[in-house]
Amino acid sequence: MKKLIAANWKMFKTWSEGMQTARELLVATRQDLPADREVLLIPSFTLLKGVGEVFSGVENYYLGAQNFYPEEQGAYTGEISPVQLKDLGCSFALAGHSERRHVLGETDEFVGQKVRFGLEKGLNIILCIGEKIEERKKGQVEEVLHRQLAKGLAGVEKDIEPQRLSIAYEPVWAIGTGEVAGPKEIVHAHTFIRNELAEYFQFYKDIRILYGGSVKPDNASQILGLDNVDGVLVGGASLKAESFSQIVLAE
Ligand code: PEP
Repeated sequence: MKKLIAANWKMFKTWSEGMQTARELLVATRQDLPADREVLLIPSFTLLKGVGEVFSGVENYYLGAQNFYPEEQGAYTGEISPVQLKDLGCSFALAGHSERRHVLGETDEFVGQKVRFGLEKGLNIILCIGEKIEERKKGQVEEVLHRQLAKGLAGVEKDIEPQRLSIAYEPVWAIGTGEVAGPKEIVHAHTFIRNELAEYFQFYKDIRILYGGSVKPDNASQILGLDNVDGVLVGGASLKAESFSQIVLAE
């Protein structure tokens, strides 16, 4: 299974900034990209076309969306559909990122609706899950992950091809805070998720489980080497080609 190194640019970058970072990233990583690695760029909607053009035809580089609405088309002002995203060259999309859950109020049920609809329309979905700090303090990590998986994966076919679906474990307290989860915490959560996936999917061993939360050039190798860590989802450190390329190439 190839490790997936994903860049979530969130609501950052103008057109020219995005194009510059994308070009620098390609130059810095393309030649030395390890054979067991894939790179996914997840910029704002406004940058999808341009970033897609920079990486067009380059093997092992993919384009993804941060969000979408679970309808094909219609009167949903301000929203964007999986069909429109695919038309722009997106093959992946996030669902349930913690900022969408906790800042923008998305429920577990709505996230599940998006996972099902996005898959049905041909996007590869990365379902993001993770506990808040108060939930960890109360010993509720497994309970939260179990619930978010149950609601997020409801109705997904048991024999789904494993590359169509990934899970990103992103403890909310580690996102954008500089506070990375320790190896024990990551391995515990990822092993729990793998065991849960066994309840849902025939090919559960091949579904990628990514870690996200303050991944940086100096901790990427260690995290990528942990059991059941099949890639990373990177926010802050993905904004500069210099730091993200070090993560992409981390040995
Ligand atoms: C994220 O946005 O998914 C993320 C993990 O952000 P950061 O790397 O900045 O913690």
